[in-house]
Amino acid sequence: RYLSALMTGLMLVSASPAATLDDLPDRPNFIVIFCDDLGWGDLGCYGHPTIATPNLDRMASEGMRMTQFYVAASVCTPSRAGLMTGRYPVRSGMCGKRRVLFPDSVGGLPASESTIAEVLKQRGYATAMVGKWHLGHLPQYLPTEHGFDSYYGIPYSNDMDSLAPKGSKRWDIFRDPDWKNFNVPLLEGTTAGGVQQIERPVDQRTITRRYVLKAVDFIRNQDKDQPFFLYLAHSLPHVPLFRSGDFVGHSRAGIYGDVIEEIVWGVGEILGTLREQGIDERTMVVFTSDNGPWLVFDDHGGSAGPLRNGKGTTFEGGQRVPCLMRGPGIPAGTVCNELTGTIDVLPTIAAITGKPLPAGKNIDGVDVSGLWMGTAKQSPRIEFLHYTSGGALEGIRQGKWKLLVKKPRRPKNQRKTPAQPPQILLFDLSEDVGEQNNVANSNPA
Ligand code: MG
Repeated sequence: RYLSALMTGLMLVSASPAATLDDLPDRPNFIVIFCDDLGWGDLGCYGHPTIATPNLDRMASEGMRMTQFYVAASVCTPSRAGLMTGRYPVRSGMCGKRRVLFPDSVGGLPASESTIAEVLKQRGYATAMVGKWHLGHLPQYLPTEHGFDSYYGIPYSNDMDSLAPKGSKRWDIFRDPDWKNFNVPLLEGTTAGGVQQIERPVDQRTITRRYVLKAVDFIRNQDKDQPFFLYLAHSLPHVPLFRSGDFVGHSRAGIYGDVIEEIVWGVGEILGTLREQGIDERTMVVFTSDNGPWLVFDDHGGSAGPLRNGKGTTFEGGQRVPCLMRGPGIPAGTVCNELTGTIDVLPTIAAITGKPLPAGKNIDGVDVSGLWMGTAKQSPRIEFLHYTSGGALEGIRQGKWKLLVKKPRRPKNQRKTPAQPPQILLFDLSEDVGEQNNVANSNPA
């Protein structure tokens, strides 16, 4: 099933005539639904055998499914910085030794960065963020300081602020988690009125449901004459896993499946609300994930399908994620097998709305609206750089080739021995999507 989900990507089949940017409604709405640690192999429409994803499978049949969609980094903070700014996160400084921001971190996304929300505000959009931000929890870094009119969500990961005794094994606190053990705050507010903590610890059992209801409320309450941008960043399926009562035992795939199926229920609620409001044909919806599955958590982590490894690595399983899109101009029932990713979202949205890119910003993303519309046979993105979560350049994808240059990790007690040479890995992804055969020696050029 996974291989066929990949293989269908070799052709792009469009049932409807291709649209151009001129055919699109003026200033369409945008919704980005961003999951946390959802792997390439976790959805039915990507080949998962038991997790049921009917609303996403339908979204794929009504829109486009991407098979080579990459995130800017394989952990939360830098990945989100890449999505929001259209730049490799090394540029905004949102990567470093600790890889992500923690409750004791004092930094955040600098005010000098321009987010998708800020770009769209200049075009008169209403903007809202619901969910996990993870680009700085101090007041000056919150979404409401970065172009979002309103915010409802948690400021960092759902496993942080743990109240478990020091030295507890992670498995012991994640296996059968008690939501009261994770002292994560729930914040709510607006740019005008400020942001307040409204619950702590947040009851994570209902968090997915509450995010979805907030998103639906936002859509329903919009003025029909004003376009909107909604960024819904689910805090799950990042461990510890929680789901509301209706979804306990819902999935054949255990608790992980329950969590995904609740998120997928939410996609149905959102798409249904767009139909009910008569705006589904003027709203572009993108569904994707921030990084690959956290494999060390076994059946509480997801699947990268046929891809190698997962979260925290520059292998495909860490950075290639599912991406579905539906909306005006996006041809129904299509599969896009071209190279693109989250850093291309900002330039593409800017192109669709006729807004120039933020000046002087070294935007790494490119306008891939031709791919979204099904008019471009080839991606304007010719390469993709693979950075570690710490911000070190570790590899490059060019066409079918992927080169990784991995510095060996030295165990703590060997830090004084001479450094070993880096490991050179070259893969031909057209034949070896699982990165199993290192062909560096036979392809020195
Ligand atoms: Mg993540």
